[in-house]
Amino acid sequence: MPPIPTAELHLHIEGTLEPDLAFALAERNGVELPFATQEELRAAYSFGDLQDFLDLYYALMTVLRTEDDFADLTKAYLARAREQGVRHAEIFFDPQAHTARGVEIDTVIRGIGRALDAAPRAYGITTRLIMCFLRDESAESALATFEAARPHLDRIAAVGLDSAEVGNPPSKFREVYALARQAGLKCVAHAGRRGRPRMCGRRSTSSAWTASTTGCGAWRTRRWWPGWSRTGPR
Ligand SMILES: [Zn+2]
Repeated sequence: MPPIPTAELHLHIEGTLEPDLAFALAERNGVELPFATQEELRAAYSFGDLQDFLDLYYALMTVLRTEDDFADLTKAYLARAREQGVRHAEIFFDPQAHTARGVEIDTVIRGIGRALDAAPRAYGITTRLIMCFLRDESAESALATFEAARPHLDRIAAVGLDSAEVGNPPSKFREVYALARQAGLKCVAHAGRRGRPRMCGRRSTSSAWTASTTGCGAWRTRRWWPGWSRTGPR
């Protein structure tokens, strides 16, 4: 029986890195992972809370260095998603997690974008890309990231927030959300893993943006396709 057609609405592309590709990219780039084997890494995936997950998430992404790495990461996800019946995917990425390591934002967006450009033809999946700002980084860093991404805004459907929620309310990012809205991007947010639902924001407290959904309690959120979209029509 073929898989049920679904829309992927909550997916962090960096979080899709599987042990086999992580080790292949580590070897390609001469990066030493803090795991001796793929099995050891796989065992670490049974994390207990958000911080455990984030520690692993950031440790693994050190293997992502080049445009090809980001394209390979994205293609690997798309191939698995096709097998699972995904027809449409709205994909988060974390540019600051890469620029902080010295990887240019152009490298990140071009690599992911190259794979997404081919997705309808190669995998039968339509996509939208959502650029997230790290909540635990400063508002100034989010603004600088947005400006660095300006040459690529045609590839980006929306902006969002992720990473550590506690102490980092959405109001901190009011200014960058206003800029994104002015540039024609959708504004989304998701939260709830550790913070309260208000960590997604409320229109009444920030007219600059509208939170779309709650629900960061799972790796991914899927819904019947067609009919669901986090970012709505452009
Ligand atoms: Zn999330």
